[in-house]
Amino acid sequence: MKQVYLDNAATTPVDPRVKAAILPYLEDLYGNPSSVHSAGQNVRAAVEEARSKVAALINARSDETYFTSGGTESDNWALKGTAWAKADKGNHIITSAIEHHAVIESCQYLSKHGFDITLIPVDKFGLVDPDDVKNAITPKTILISVMHANNEIGTIQPVEAIGKIARERGVLFHVDAVQTAGHLPIKVNDFNIDLLSISSHKLYGPKGAGAMYIRKGVRIESLLSGGSQERGKRPGTENVPGIIGFGAAAEIAQTEMSAEAERLTILRDRLIRELLARIPDSHLNGHPTLRLPNNINISFDYVEGESLLLNLDFEGICASTGSACSSSSLEPSHVLLACGKIAEEAHGSLRFSLGKSTEVEDIDTVVEALPRIVNKLRAMSPLTPRAAH
Ligand SMILES: *Cc1c(COP(=O)(O)O)cnc(C)c1O
Repeated sequence: MKQVYLDNAATTPVDPRVKAAILPYLEDLYGNPSSVHSAGQNVRAAVEEARSKVAALINARSDETYFTSGGTESDNWALKGTAWAKADKGNHIITSAIEHHAVIESCQYLSKHGFDITLIPVDKFGLVDPDDVKNAITPKTILISVMHANNEIGTIQPVEAIGKIARERGVLFHVDAVQTAGHLPIKVNDFNIDLLSISSHKLYGPKGAGAMYIRKGVRIESLLSGGSQERGKRPGTENVPGIIGFGAAAEIAQTEMSAEAERLTILRDRLIRELLARIPDSHLNGHPTLRLPNNINISFDYVEGESLLLNLDFEGICASTGSACSSSSLEPSHVLLACGKIAEEAHGSLRFSLGKSTEVEDIDTVVEALPRIVNKLRAMSPLTPRAAH
């Protein structure tokens, strides 16, 4: 049975060209980039070349781009690092109700340490209204953090408009761009972004590598203490194979992303159209057009997302009920609840996230399998109204 992998928002496979770029750094090129000898300095040069490729992907400068262990660390660093650096200026942070757990939990941590957090609500499509952000700003506001696109429902936020407001009011602006980097164009200057989180394994690079963009002149505390790596801001011997792979993946993404986004949008819309047409009482979550090219999130009334997942998995189809990070907990998705769904609706939702390996045949496999599975589960479900059986 061919595996149909439609969980690329959770992680992507390593591109074979990325793997080839990494291998020498697992073999002969093992020097420590901080070493003075040539074995170290050759690796240093390769790390800096990777940095320039990652920086280019987000239209940033190399000296504003810092390597981290991934999106989670970058998000923690942006929130906590700014809070500690700016605590004398104010204690108010604005974020949205549908951020990734790495941002939400960092805010919860900070709220235990004297910071006030304002969660901006979203509309039924998951969109933040920039005016709500503007109205929430107080003289004590030190940071606005709004994600570029949501990992569960794919909604793309008006970050450019929010960035403009942040800049006008002199408040730092952080963007979690983990779902968009390498998939959609990012221009940190045009968007007035001060801090930006990205992750390698969401763009066909290896896991455990990420980056944070820190605009020149922005002061932020380090999370770690130690050596002088990453200009002293993020100490610890560099994850060289991860960084080399991240750089290679960023370079490939830059040349291929626009054609790939176009290809995936067609497949995405085909899957949405066919599932909504073939399965009664199904509803698209997220925005119909302001949406990641690879994201499909649909609620199916009267059934449990978990049961759908298991049945799909049995037929070789990998999907998700939302974010990979919370899928093992039975809490309803905070994202769907924020969009106004009730818990039952949130429980019956599925996310399909397409990727480079996705072909039209994979879409058709889901279109054949899922209506059958939903029918079977609905026939057994006590939630199904009799007329719908
Ligand atoms: C995956 C993801 C993260 C976490 O990135 P890791 O590299 O897995 O730690 C953060 N934010 C968003 C939006 C994500 O999709």
